[in-house]
Amino acid sequence: MANVKNIQVNKDRLWESLMEMAKIGATAKGGCARLALTDLDKQGRDLFVQWCKDAGCTVTVDRMGNIFARRPGRNNDLPPVVTGSHLDTQPTGGKFDGVYGVLAGLEVIRTLNDHKFETDAPVEVSVWTNEEGSRFAPAMVASGVFAGVFTEEYGHSRTDLDGKTIGEELKRIGYLGDAPVGGRPFKAFFEAHIEQGPILEADRRTIGVVQGIQGMRWFEVTVTGSESHAGTTPMPRRKDAMLGCARIVDRINRIALDHKPGVSTVGLVKVSPNSRNTIPGNVFFSVDLRHPQDETLLKMKAALEAACAEICGELGLAYECKEVWNSPAVHYDKGCIAAVRKAAEEAGYAHMDITSGAGHDAGYINRVAPTAMVFVPCADGISHNEIESATAEDLAAGCNVLMRAMLEHAA
Ligand SMILES: [Zn+2]
Repeated sequence: MANVKNIQVNKDRLWESLMEMAKIGATAKGGCARLALTDLDKQGRDLFVQWCKDAGCTVTVDRMGNIFARRPGRNNDLPPVVTGSHLDTQPTGGKFDGVYGVLAGLEVIRTLNDHKFETDAPVEVSVWTNEEGSRFAPAMVASGVFAGVFTEEYGHSRTDLDGKTIGEELKRIGYLGDAPVGGRPFKAFFEAHIEQGPILEADRRTIGVVQGIQGMRWFEVTVTGSESHAGTTPMPRRKDAMLGCARIVDRINRIALDHKPGVSTVGLVKVSPNSRNTIPGNVFFSVDLRHPQDETLLKMKAALEAACAEICGELGLAYECKEVWNSPAVHYDKGCIAAVRKAAEEAGYAHMDITSGAGHDAGYINRVAPTAMVFVPCADGISHNEIESATAEDLAAGCNVLMRAMLEHAA
């Protein structure tokens, strides 16, 4: 049997498979529109399933439409080592987000077949339904049901803008499987993905050893002052809610800079009465705070609350700062992270530890199985865009790392 050290994935075959899949839902600007559970999603799934069957896999579909393609091992009583991602895209999505993680898994299986490489544990490739959350909210709903975060009833009853449910649409396209969702032990789970950010490219690293996903807290702040005439109200007598908002927004920016590598965003502002010659009496705005460490994120929250109190106190304004969402940081499994790092080192790729700024199915799978991720660079860090781009070399490098990390657990 071949030594894993000498095995390389087939770069051209991986690239050609990505380009073949990208024809399904291809957009004019070179991207992909393959929304979850549409006819195009069905075509993409059918192509993937056919490829897996051609590679000798058995295919199981669960009741959320998650697909598991299994290459048997020597000991099929062992739980499988699993990799995978998603085939659905944003309406103006790219060719690589998600699809890469699925087809990298298939390429691992094809490479093992080429070399007649037997693993001890079975190896599986998974496709998670509706990762993007673009047609049906929330995102990552099916890996969430798999991990016990949501119930199956909740998953099936999510609706799109036309009122169609996930359950109905799964049935319509023939992917309402009969396998139960979850309760399927994994020895380990790995997800390969484009970074969707600029860090690897800027640092000239081929592989990101993903430590986890940063924590996120959302707030809604309302600042209340008093409306009055813009021409007749002397400056000292004003209670200008917009001024309070502006000063708080500046401080929110400062909070992230003071808590590196945290990020902070005010993306939605509603000014009332929104009239050019009336001093604003009321401003509502959103705050998005993120940081890889929950303790630091908590300090950022405290700094936000302190800024609101201090600034509104100075300006004689009333305020309310309400937390509306808290998604704790995800920390991947130390053993799986070490396997990814070792694989990158042994394969000779420049690599660095990195934290994901975006959510991924692996974040939920991490709750029920030892999990880690492999990132590869994408051009200018751009994703969720038709111009999303990655090189065949980097994609193959990530696939080689994925294969070695999987074999570390399966061989
Ligand atoms: Zn993705």
